[in-house]
Amino acid sequence: MRIILFPLLMLLVGNVHAYGPAGHEVVGTIAERYLEGTRALKEVRTLLYKGETLARASTWADRAKFPEKYLSAEMKEFVKNNPQHHSFHYCDVPFQETAYRLGLIGTHQQDIVHILEICIHVLQAPADIRDNSLKINKRIALMLITHLVGDLHQPLHVGCSYIDADDKFVNPETGAKGQEDAGANYLHVKTRSGTPLHGYWDTQTVKLARDHLGTEDFPTAITQKTPSKPEWDATGPIDTWPTQWATDTLGFSKRCFQDITPRDRFLVPKNEKHDEHFEWIVTLSPTYPEHSRDIVEVELSKAGYRLAALLKAIWPEVK
Ligand SMILES: [Zn+2]
Repeated sequence: MRIILFPLLMLLVGNVHAYGPAGHEVVGTIAERYLEGTRALKEVRTLLYKGETLARASTWADRAKFPEKYLSAEMKEFVKNNPQHHSFHYCDVPFQETAYRLGLIGTHQQDIVHILEICIHVLQAPADIRDNSLKINKRIALMLITHLVGDLHQPLHVGCSYIDADDKFVNPETGAKGQEDAGANYLHVKTRSGTPLHGYWDTQTVKLARDHLGTEDFPTAITQKTPSKPEWDATGPIDTWPTQWATDTLGFSKRCFQDITPRDRFLVPKNEKHDEHFEWIVTLSPTYPEHSRDIVEVELSKAGYRLAALLKAIWPEVK
């Protein structure tokens, strides 16, 4: 998830309920259930602390974004070695594109797809040494994978919109000029101070899914409603799976922008976090909540299944 420091801090300092981590935790729980009785789960347990679950591990990478005084020693070291770690959680491919490919606008060597590739290699390596560009050990690689496979199934962590001077969505890959929406953080629902569309997908859609399926055993409800399908399986070497999954998610990114027209642009002045840029107001159609909820129910189930599949491929059963 992205630019969510405020609600997470509220969780730390006050009694404000936020659903932000809920999506990640359900992915971790679903994966752990798929892993029951496998060698992969034994290997996972050796990397996690006593009592630590994949649900807990799933939020580590977001908790590493907290102010320094809240960080564990291993988080501090990770942040020191990777000051740009906030950008590990996403890429910004124009939603009109049909496939993720390094070199497209909004992709780079340290985007979500490539960080996942690095983490896969760290877990596959015979020795647990920090001989990698992130200077991470296997434990941190597992934490990042558990979180980022979840993020990779949130459509606005993969695709985003670019908006031209006439407030129309354009694809900058065609040469058109447009300002990026920062993972739809610059599109606000209903009013200038309304929820950014990105946050809507991070939290509101998960809340809608929980209300729809029941909160009692949300992970079970999700997997019953949307059981795994053969087409969820990736093919080929496992370090190509994140690219395949990003392409799959990009198909849903398009649907985030369906029936949406940016309007009433306003200029946001430069500050220490960003340059001067425009933001917009958007209106959601009456069916948008239901459609987005249905997508998220599938994506959470798929992310849990794929996280388990990846960990099983990293640590196959010994024959
Ligand atoms: Zn994230």
